[in-house]
Amino acid sequence: MKMSLMKKLSLSILLAVLVSIILVSLISNAIIDKEFNKYLAGEHQTKIKNAINIIEDLYRQQGGFSDISQDELRRYSEMQGLYIEIRDLNDDTVYTSGTAYLQHNNMMRGMMGDMMGNYAGMNPNQYTEDTYSIFLDDNKVGTVIIGYINTSFLSPDSITFIRALNYSFVISAFIALAIGLLISIVISRQLSNPLAKITQTSNQMRTGNLEVRSIVKTSTKEIDELSNSINYLAETLSAQEMLRKRLTTDIAHELRTPLTTLKTHLEAFIDGVWEPTTERFEIFYEEINRLSKLVDNLRDLAQLEQPNKKINKSEVNLSNELEKIIEAFKPLYLKENYQLESNIEPEITALIDMDKFKQIMNNLLSNAYKYLKPDGKAEVTLTKQNKNIIIKVKDNGIGIAEKDLPYIFERFYRSDISRSKNTGGAGIGLTITKSLVEALGGRISVESKLNIGTTFTIIFSDIASL
Ligand code: ADP
Repeated sequence: MKMSLMKKLSLSILLAVLVSIILVSLISNAIIDKEFNKYLAGEHQTKIKNAINIIEDLYRQQGGFSDISQDELRRYSEMQGLYIEIRDLNDDTVYTSGTAYLQHNNMMRGMMGDMMGNYAGMNPNQYTEDTYSIFLDDNKVGTVIIGYINTSFLSPDSITFIRALNYSFVISAFIALAIGLLISIVISRQLSNPLAKITQTSNQMRTGNLEVRSIVKTSTKEIDELSNSINYLAETLSAQEMLRKRLTTDIAHELRTPLTTLKTHLEAFIDGVWEPTTERFEIFYEEINRLSKLVDNLRDLAQLEQPNKKINKSEVNLSNELEKIIEAFKPLYLKENYQLESNIEPEITALIDMDKFKQIMNNLLSNAYKYLKPDGKAEVTLTKQNKNIIIKVKDNGIGIAEKDLPYIFERFYRSDISRSKNTGGAGIGLTITKSLVEALGGRISVESKLNIGTTFTIIFSDIASL
């Protein structure tokens, strides 16, 4: 059964309060009982001592038990609930208080009622008799038998005390329950109100409103964190949503250009305006090539952006591998009379995914090639500084305008110059390169000056082997 937080908290707090009150009253009752019994036993002893003193005084005053004042003893016996019997040295009874003590007992039972009937484990009906010797100047003159029913222990004061104590427990139980209820309502409000707001926000998000944000005022750390994560989720989702929309328009845009070219050319063929020559078919071929490259790039990008990218790291001699990649590019550069130079620190080894590293270098070297000017030059350097492996790809090509620099790693971003140059790129290469570098745990940055050249710098930390 699902229960609201408020109800659950209130019930738990009330239960805790109730259990603690019961425990406190049980424990304090037990302790007080013990102390109270001690006190009562002491009182009882005093009563007996007093009775003996009275008898000894009477004996002394009257010179024997023959004319012992009955009134004083009777009153005492009545008041204290004691049965008093005096016997002389011959063990003959010279005085007995009779049943006067029972009056006290009845009165006490009346006061105590049922609630206190068994107070401190006393059996209220148990009658006990003790015998004491009576001395006069160290000479035994007789014995006194003092009997009492257990409740005679209790004086009206002590009963009032016990009653007050129990009453105070009941009162404090009610007060504690009321305070507990109040606290539980306040706390559960403090917890459930912001949670309800957060739920409301996430429900709004569920229905597609990604602009909504959770604003809650709370001093509870966890709720604050929850609210922040919901906001973060909303931001991520809306960023994703924007990206998805932009991607769709970008792809549509990128597809439209080659498709329009193909369409208009074909229409011209059909209408007989144009002769289908090899040259014109080559244009078709190039456009189709561009389309299939775009599709390949998109597939790579989608794979890279999956959260669990697969990385196959192995220990390689990066210096040698990089030289091989550069060598493979040299014929392409030579064809255009470009120079491709390398400045590679030898014997740098690293733990790296070589396929991904090759793809990074291919992208950067083919970009440099694409944007070089006649007699252009590109240079690749590899150095190791402390634990960092630094790779630079520098060219003296057309450069990138300052306004374009912040965006060149974004999907489908192409500078105006490169668009007009019709390099065949779709503006995805650097996006893929950046994702690859990051997947390998590195960072990529760019510096460029228009008409002077561009330098891409990649820094890998912690991949260098010893
Ligand atoms: P593309 O496929 O269009 O080259 P990229 O993502 O690789 O796409 O590059 C994005 C843009 O960055 C390019 O269109 C170009 O304007 C610019 N760019 C990249 N590399 C260079 C470079 N070496 N020199 C000048 N501009 C460059």
